[in-house]
Amino acid sequence: MIQTILDQPVANQIFYAVLGFSWTVYLWEAYLSYRQRRIYRSTTQVPQELGKIMDTETFEKSRRYQLDKSNFSFWSGLYSETEGTLILVLGGIPFLWSLAGTVSGRFGFGPEYEITQSLSFLTLATLFSAITGLPWSIYSTFVIEEKHGFNQQTLGFFLKDAVKKFAVTQCILLPVTSLLLYIIKIGGDYFFIYAWLFTLCVSLVLVTIYADYIAPLFDKFTPLPEGELKTDIETMAKSISFPLTKVYVVEGSKRSSHSNAYFYGFFKNKRIVLFDTLLEDYSPLNKTGEEQPENTESDDTSSESKVKPKNKKQGCNNPEILAVLGHELGHWKLGHTVKNIVISQMNSFLCFFLFAVLIGRRELFLAFGFHDSQPTLIGLMIIFQFIFSPYNELLSFCLTVLSRRFEFQADAFALAMGKASQLYSALIKLNKDNLGFPVADWLFSMWHYSHPPLLERLRALGNVKQD
Ligand SMILES: [Zn+2]
Repeated sequence: MIQTILDQPVANQIFYAVLGFSWTVYLWEAYLSYRQRRIYRSTTQVPQELGKIMDTETFEKSRRYQLDKSNFSFWSGLYSETEGTLILVLGGIPFLWSLAGTVSGRFGFGPEYEITQSLSFLTLATLFSAITGLPWSIYSTFVIEEKHGFNQQTLGFFLKDAVKKFAVTQCILLPVTSLLLYIIKIGGDYFFIYAWLFTLCVSLVLVTIYADYIAPLFDKFTPLPEGELKTDIETMAKSISFPLTKVYVVEGSKRSSHSNAYFYGFFKNKRIVLFDTLLEDYSPLNKTGEEQPENTESDDTSSESKVKPKNKKQGCNNPEILAVLGHELGHWKLGHTVKNIVISQMNSFLCFFLFAVLIGRRELFLAFGFHDSQPTLIGLMIIFQFIFSPYNELLSFCLTVLSRRFEFQADAFALAMGKASQLYSALIKLNKDNLGFPVADWLFSMWHYSHPPLLERLRALGNVKQD
């Protein structure tokens, strides 16, 4: 009891430092977004050097889309920062913890068992965040994405998806957490090594089963039909000894008309996944010519009221798809995937080690309102989420910088494969289909962009296709 009183001032300092840092990051990012919004507002004409790659209409469409998205994220960001602050200030975490104790007691496990209380806590916490997040994601999907012609979901599909996602998350989260808590409990002095090894195994297992057992619960994957594209992809994979086993097309058009491509799999068993929206000849969006009644919003440019049929034509032709895949396979050939895994595992090891150093400090628990118990799960949450947050911010910035370097290198790889001009036109098409805005504030893009701005990528490709 006396110790508790002595620790209290330190605990208060910790609490206010965490809160203060959270608001500092929030204000910094709000400032960056403000700078970027200023660019969206003021850049109403296509800049001269972009004249050849973007028409006025697409430019204006993307400007409005990005402005809407930025305004939305201003409000949703303010909401979640306020919510997080209120939870901390009003003692939401100890409240939820004791509620979890009552719930697990009621189900007959008894609150004296920390693991069952932890699991109830996790379920309640994820349920709370799913419910409070739902209105925001509904607004984002059915108002913003809808208005700009990207949304392809119905509300029923969306809600079913949300429930499924919640259920699948619980099925993974609960057993993994209980094992982790158990390992920490019995691990002895070197528990952090076992805990780290355990999370390493879990992530390897998840990566292995995700594509075959989890992703198909949400989306339809079909093998790419035999034909020119498939043969070309196989030939290209062979030329750089990429151990390709299968090429899939995922029905991304069921969700939105945004497009993408990726590969996954371990060692000798790699698969490529193409979004149907990426494939010009395959996208269902190109087949239905139906016009969507778009509400003519009263934005500052009300003169342009001509409603265009949505997704007139989108996606890339086969040589362009091969160039995009050349870039993707470049990430593999240049070891980017392995480097990312190594970095994230080293980071995870470091975090578990620091966690082991800090977990015994009762002032950390006192700071967040835990006066007479020090549950391991709460310790994980406090240390990984709150105490490490300055480190996490720094790390994520470094990873963003690294990711931009990797993107340039993968582009250069595609260039070396002789696909520069196809990649050049693919990047322009993809930017157009996804309504990317080609002008960025330098500070905003430095902080947030995992990919270099379009113009810089095109320049690096050597302006191959100028005429
Ligand atoms: Zn890339």
